[in-house]
Amino acid sequence: MSAHDPNCIFCKIIAGQIPSKKVYEDDEVFVFHDIQPWAPVHFLLVPKAHIPSMAQLTPEHEPLMGRMMVLASRLAAEQGCNPYPDGGFRLVCNTGTEGGQEVHHMHVHVMGGPRPWKRG
Ligand code: 5GP
Ligand code: ZN
Repeated sequence: MSAHDPNCIFCKIIAGQIPSKKVYEDDEVFVFHDIQPWAPVHFLLVPKAHIPSMAQLTPEHEPLMGRMMVLASRLAAEQGCNPYPDGGFRLVCNTGTEGGQEVHHMHVHVMGGPRPWKRG
């Protein structure tokens, strides 16, 4: 699996070639606000490596995915999602065309904040 795809919009965002509203970055993960938010809080967690989707995950990705889940919860709170159980947040990971995936660089949507939301 190549680390980066020069034609991938999320690889370009990670590299700073396309501007984004950054939420968080470390050596493995990049987090930024969705350009078309569905909810008052809506950001995307992406691995810096170009993994096309959940369908390409292998056991070597278990630590990365575990870190992304824990980070999603922490950043949801920091970005203004209200506390569990009356608040909370939704994680969505569209996979493949039938799974509704449009950008083929794996990402986790984190959505939250007061309802109603535009979708869902
Ligand atoms: P998918 O349908 O693949 O799960 O979601 C892709 C998401 O990426 C969409 O919610 C869309 O709004 C977001 N997106 C697409 N292009 C850009 C962009 O250039 N910048 C940002 N910040 N978000 C984008
Ligand atoms: Zn990519």
